[in-house]
Amino acid sequence: MAKQVEKCRLCDLVCPLCESHIIPKAFFRDAMVGEPACGLNMITPERIEVGKMAGEYERLLCRGCEEIVGRYDDYGIRFFRRQVGERLIAFNGDVVPDDIDLIGKVDLRLLRLFIISVLWRASISSRPFFDKVDLGPFELVAKQIIRDEITLSDNLFPFFMNRYAETDQAKRMLFNPLPTRMGPLRFFNVNIGGFNVAVKVDQRDLRYPHDFIWKTLTEAGVVLVYEKRLLDSEEYATIQQVARMARANSQKPVQRNVR
Ligand SMILES: [Zn+2]
Repeated sequence: MAKQVEKCRLCDLVCPLCESHIIPKAFFRDAMVGEPACGLNMITPERIEVGKMAGEYERLLCRGCEEIVGRYDDYGIRFFRRQVGERLIAFNGDVVPDDIDLIGKVDLRLLRLFIISVLWRASISSRPFFDKVDLGPFELVAKQIIRDEITLSDNLFPFFMNRYAETDQAKRMLFNPLPTRMGPLRFFNVNIGGFNVAVKVDQRDLRYPHDFIWKTLTEAGVVLVYEKRLLDSEEYATIQQVARMARANSQKPVQRNVR
């Protein structure tokens, strides 16, 4: 078979490309823990694909660039599996409430690079699951951050994170990344390993108090995670709607084409 030689999307060199995963395969493997026959359910507002074992991948990066994002993936996987970081009991002299996790001892640079690289891969991907992600001019900014050509400053791609309370259930569901808004600002919602991460993709500042909270936490190497109930979420309402549509379609009489 002829070797597939195309341009690497990160270094722009023409060379053989790897099958690059948009979201690391590890999260699909995690969905199968305890239930090896079940994969991850990939959910969009239009359809549910049940039992996916490997996720979405396509030829995007050369081996060298795959290794660069692979280092970010390794850290991201460990963070979302809760193998790095430590839940803080108190922060700046205040007790942390039960419904909030403040995760300290985090390498925020690596974690942010992981989140940015997933969002960037989703933006350049041609897979239909990611068709709502278009970072526009921020696609180049993300690429330059991943290539270490511009410094990852506080105002670039800040994020807020929720963890679904129904952890095991949430780990088996992957919602497609969708644009969303926080006030006038544009964000993208990305689901990873039972978490929901809202990443700002907008030139304008977060403004007080969000800006203050983000900077305070970033400087301290701390990630703020709110708990969110999957069953009460908009995402879950989407699943129910898609399931209703699928049921209605299966009950329709078969249409035949008449010429
Ligand atoms: Zn490359």
